Amino acid sequence: MNDTKIRKKYKNPPNLTDYEKTYRTFDWKTYDFGIPKFPGGKMNAAYWAIDYNAGNQRKNKVALYWQDETGLKIKYTFLELSLLSNRFANYLKSLGVERSDRVFFFLPRVPELYYGFLGTLKIGAIAGTMFSAFGPQALLDRLSNSKAKILITNNDLLPRVNEIRKKLVHLEKIVLVEDLALELAKQVDTFKIAQMDPDEPAFMLYTSGTTGKPKGVIHSHKAIYVEHLTAKWVLDIHDEDVYWCTADPGWVTGIAYEILGSWSNGASSLIYSGRFDPATWYQLIQDYKVNVWYTAPTAIRMLAASDKKLVGKYDLSSLRHLASVGEPLNPEAVFWGIKAIGLPFHDNWWQTETGGILIANYPCLDIKPGSMGKPIPGVVADIVNDKGEVLKEKQIGNLAIKPGWPSMMKTIWLRPHKYQKYFVTNKGKKWYLSGDLAYKDKDGYFWFVGRADDVIKTSGERVGPFEVESSLLECQEVAETGVIGKPDPLRGEIIKAFVVLKPGFKGSDKLIQMLQQHVKTHLAGHAYPREIEFIERLPKTRSGKIVRRYLKAKELGLPLGDTSTLEEY
Ligand code: ATP
Ligand code: MG
Repeated sequence: MNDTKIRKKYKNPPNLTDYEKTYRTFDWKTYDFGIPKFPGGKMNAAYWAIDYNAGNQRKNKVALYWQDETGLKIKYTFLELSLLSNRFANYLKSLGVERSDRVFFFLPRVPELYYGFLGTLKIGAIAGTMFSAFGPQALLDRLSNSKAKILITNNDLLPRVNEIRKKLVHLEKIVLVEDLALELAKQVDTFKIAQMDPDEPAFMLYTSGTTGKPKGVIHSHKAIYVEHLTAKWVLDIHDEDVYWCTADPGWVTGIAYEILGSWSNGASSLIYSGRFDPATWYQLIQDYKVNVWYTAPTAIRMLAASDKKLVGKYDLSSLRHLASVGEPLNPEAVFWGIKAIGLPFHDNWWQTETGGILIANYPCLDIKPGSMGKPIPGVVADIVNDKGEVLKEKQIGNLAIKPGWPSMMKTIWLRPHKYQKYFVTNKGKKWYLSGDLAYKDKDGYFWFVGRADDVIKTSGERVGPFEVESSLLECQEVAETGVIGKPDPLRGEIIKAFVVLKPGFKGSDKLIQMLQQHVKTHLAGHAYPREIEFIERLPKTRSGKIVRRYLKAKELGLPLGDTSTLEEY
């Protein structure tokens, strides 16, 4: 899909104008990020994100437009965030926090979370975040595994912490944000930022738990190299832009592209602490004249399934660039963007472990709807089999990355064996295996097939749930769907689809046949769902990902596994 017409809307050209040339010539070692290093090659990601901008012409520029569900609005400039994070760093010091201690945040998207995170990095301590909807068990897992020393939370969430407080033997202090203003007022607003080795840990984050027990992924300060560059080239953030990332810092997107990479590019970021609601979201884009919008497929699907007339009631003409991450982006969602907003969503792929976007669609390249795009300059991606042998075009295999990109996880906290399992070496060539299956086409675009665990083997063919789901989504009745393989004596597995219908539609045998027929004719005869079940809601992680392992376990009457990150279902 060629979006030259759309690109006419750009006042300035995209930050990345020639992908192929940049990919051929780019080198992490020689690229000039434009941000000065400390003596001896030391750095600090919080300096890149905030202090550097607080000391240049962006000083009084708004870094954070904050709004909550009641409509309360607060603005912070780069200078203000710099000073607040200094005070926070001094406060942590006064509590005895030292380099590499873990400081955890269990908060909704309040401003304190953002400058608190930065203040923690300024000390050289390791910041950890936990999504505010977590229950006691999820908290216990993370706080005890990480041996967190300090926890920052609020009065609303405290009861959940109190339930497990006795078991947290390493936790020295719980700080309530309600007391924070008073504490910070006692501190000075200057702080000598810790000069870190680029490889020293900066933050840790537990994965989404889509496939099993969440892993504590450790990232170092130099992860910001990738986050900075991709916020610039993939999200295409320009200095005059208002940027809105809808992710929560409880997940990696909210850290990499709401705190580090986005602010290091000087973005004026909107942060909305309220829940998803189509009308409110459109209103926010209109009110703040959002230019760049980074969101997730689940939100896009829900917007597409909501009242069709709604989107037309708002002025969304400020938008220039849309991007999506977290799950495969169905082609239908790309088309909806064009139809409803006049712009396509640019899909990009990455994981908690990769620390930043690695495969992407760019404003300067044509989009192939349904494809994740091409690797970012400085990253080598390929498709390999389980032994690490590179496969040919169109062959399905493991999506693999050549190790050594700057935001590659340092380790899995306290689970070194788990960490080692991500890698395979073949004839001296080492690969990081993502756990996702994909293939590459002749133009070098990558296509997601499914998580290795979710791929269905039916009558000797491998079928990815994503393509079946995308095909079903082409039917006007379907709002969302999750597809699994169900053991079958004859075929190995048969395909079963769980379908959520759009409001106003009812499930029937006739509709089942229509949906089956659609997949048969538009995708492939063997890939149609032999079973379809209509359900009210799909099981999802709290970050909005469809959890197919849960559908499968329920279907087969098997144990549900780790459910700590799942929405109530
Ligand atoms: P866990 O590892 O605990 O099971 P998770 O893999 O969902 O959870 P994250 O690191 O948050 O945890 O998510 C990364 C995964 O999300 C990827 O491995 C991939 O399966 C999926 N994903 C992310 N972006 C895309 C995309 N653009 N297209 C397809 N899949 C994507
Ligand atoms: Mg994963």
